[in-house]
Amino acid sequence: MKTTSYQVLNRRNDHKPWFDLLQYVPDAPRSEAVASFHLATGHGCFAKHLFRIGIPPTSCCPLCDSNDEMDYHHLFLCPTISAEGVCGRYWQARELMANAEFYF
Ligand SMILES: [Zn+2]
Repeated sequence: MKTTSYQVLNRRNDHKPWFDLLQYVPDAPRSEAVASFHLATGHGCFAKHLFRIGIPPTSCCPLCDSNDEMDYHHLFLCPTISAEGVCGRYWQARELMANAEFYF
């Protein structure tokens, strides 16, 4: 019996906490699918996640002065993010985070 790549993916990852969230990733263009996966898992470019893995000194949003924790919910409240829609806001936040020198 031939093993498909999907079966290999399932076997390697079905014990990981994020694996069940794959069902919520839309069959959409890559940028939308990637944003959806990162938002569902919380493993995106948000300061909350980056703080959890030891990169910045705080989980607060470095893009504004709110002192709010930067997570999925803050994506819709942050005054520095102007893009429309969840995907647009995610990618704009990611670009702002990548181009800023907040932590060094
Ligand atoms: Zn903010």
